[in-house]
Amino acid sequence: MAIVLTNGEYYITVSSTGKIGKTTNIEEAQTFYSCNVAMKKVFKAPGKCKGYYPYDTEDTEWNKPKEKQKRKKYSTEVRRMIYNNADGRCQLCGRKIMFTDASMDHIIPLALGGEDCESNLQLACKVCNGAKDFYLPDEFQDRVFDTFCFQMEKKHG
Ligand SMILES: [Zn+2]
Repeated sequence: MAIVLTNGEYYITVSSTGKIGKTTNIEEAQTFYSCNVAMKKVFKAPGKCKGYYPYDTEDTEWNKPKEKQKRKKYSTEVRRMIYNNADGRCQLCGRKIMFTDASMDHIIPLALGGEDCESNLQLACKVCNGAKDFYLPDEFQDRVFDTFCFQMEKKHG
């Protein structure tokens, strides 16, 4: 295990005399045995280490950007079936949409651990789909309701 301290841009270096610096080169970064040891350094020099957090350079899971999960491509037949089941209506706002404008929405967003399979798909227009990406269905309804109320309030005082 090799823990370094980073703020996502710089890495903390510690010289032989104990002086704290920073570098963009991970090769020069000070490595620690564990997160605890790294955090002790942060607590000792809170000013210089502000915003820095321990990062395990050997844990490849940490290095994978979470949003870049590959999404499955669904065949035209599957898309057509979901479209027909929904009667061509966005399952979020109820608008009729063209098949070519329809997008497949994950009922439980992938970012929240939803499965990338047909049973987790529903028809949604692109606007709704984009807006809902990081919400669960209930949260999304709340959010839409809040947005509606907020906009009405702004308009009519
Ligand atoms: Zn919609």
